[in-house]
Amino acid sequence: MKAGEIKALMDEPACGHNTAAKSGCARPKPGAAAGGCAFDGAQIALLPVADVAHVVHGPIACAGNSWDNRGTRSSGPDLFRRGLTTDLTEQDVIMGRSEKRLLHAIRQAIETFDPPAVFVYNTCVPALVGDDVGAVCRAAQARFGVPVVCVDAAGFYGSKNLGNRIAGEAMVEQVVGTGEPPPPRQAGHGGRVHDINLIGEYNIAGEFWHVLPLLDELGLRVLCTLSGDARFHQVRTMHRARASMVVCSKAMLNVARKLEERYAIPWFEGSFYGITDMSAALRGFARLLRDPDLTQRTEALIRREEDRIRARLAPWRERLKGRRVLLYTGGVKSWSVVSALQDLGMEVVATGTRKSTEADKARIRDLMGEDARMIEEGNPGALLEVFEQTRADVLIAGGRNLYTALKARIPFLDINQEREHAYAGYEGMLELARQLALTLESPIWPWVRGEAPWDAQGWPHTAPSAAEVR
Ligand code: SF4
Repeated sequence: MKAGEIKALMDEPACGHNTAAKSGCARPKPGAAAGGCAFDGAQIALLPVADVAHVVHGPIACAGNSWDNRGTRSSGPDLFRRGLTTDLTEQDVIMGRSEKRLLHAIRQAIETFDPPAVFVYNTCVPALVGDDVGAVCRAAQARFGVPVVCVDAAGFYGSKNLGNRIAGEAMVEQVVGTGEPPPPRQAGHGGRVHDINLIGEYNIAGEFWHVLPLLDELGLRVLCTLSGDARFHQVRTMHRARASMVVCSKAMLNVARKLEERYAIPWFEGSFYGITDMSAALRGFARLLRDPDLTQRTEALIRREEDRIRARLAPWRERLKGRRVLLYTGGVKSWSVVSALQDLGMEVVATGTRKSTEADKARIRDLMGEDARMIEEGNPGALLEVFEQTRADVLIAGGRNLYTALKARIPFLDINQEREHAYAGYEGMLELARQLALTLESPIWPWVRGEAPWDAQGWPHTAPSAAEVR
């Protein structure tokens, strides 16, 4: 990828960062690759396309260290969980045979798994060596008759967000518009069926399956979720949708914007976390699709679902009411989860905004008030200091903060992509409430925070002598 192309991708007009004083995406700082390089971002964005063979062109560590690092689920094929890589070594680089290895790897993937397509991810080493990965992909496609998509997102190009964007760009430029959706089945309500896209929905822990039945009931056919539980042929048909929702605020805004420019598909940004946002997302589709019958049915469904879930949440709210939360997560989740926790009667005392756009921060201020405490840097020491100052009861953050919480002996809930529980949709609120109550009320806290038995009972601190042991 040329420097000019990377620069163009970082200048995303639909992104709130572009209008801020510091335009463009945040530049990676030393050590930032630990939070994901561009290759990692691209792979995260596309790996959930479940029936595709994902081949990582690079040394073993690129594929090995990132393998299966998200809890995304598929309802059918599981080819996406196979770690396929060209496993380049020094010998391949010295002998100049890495392009050949890639061609063989693509052939092997096609012969072994018969996938509808192969996605090839470029990484730092072949990009530095100067492999023409795009040319190899084109040659492989011509020779084997299977679409081979080049995702040129070598790690050093930039941050994880840039990788997300490169992945989206690869789909829009190479895949979208190359297939047609099947005719819609008659909707259950007997009315019109509207085709929609979800962009940036990754079906973590299968949470999208909480939402899908409701969309079905409204006659909203999801042509493609880019990319949770998606299939290759679904990505090809995204141009036929009548509305799109961007589920993760920054990741793939470029996809939504380009679909609008090229195919006149309107889009909005929303979230499925929390009762308020879930209802707003359903209303968002009704608004964009301009179908009065759909609007009426959406309002009826929202009334029914909100009444049902509020009744089921009542006992949990009693247990969680007034508990104080320190939230440290990024992007869309920062405001969306604040809203979900407030729905549970909890008080969010501070929230992380490291990955949030200016629009995200404005929404947080709307929800938490003008004095909302926002944390820009979340190293373990700073997080624990805020936890103590705000007298929080629980830390809700990503998996990498798990050990900070364990060492500090404080309740913790994982909200990021590695989590095991599905929190989206109305039903997801119940799971969120249940998991919060479990961690807050765990009997372990008095034990680990109290005095150690050997201190309380005056046991000796020195190891017993051999004679005493005998
Ligand atoms: S692509 Fe580069 S930065 Fe990313 S994991 Fe591979 S070597 Fe590391």
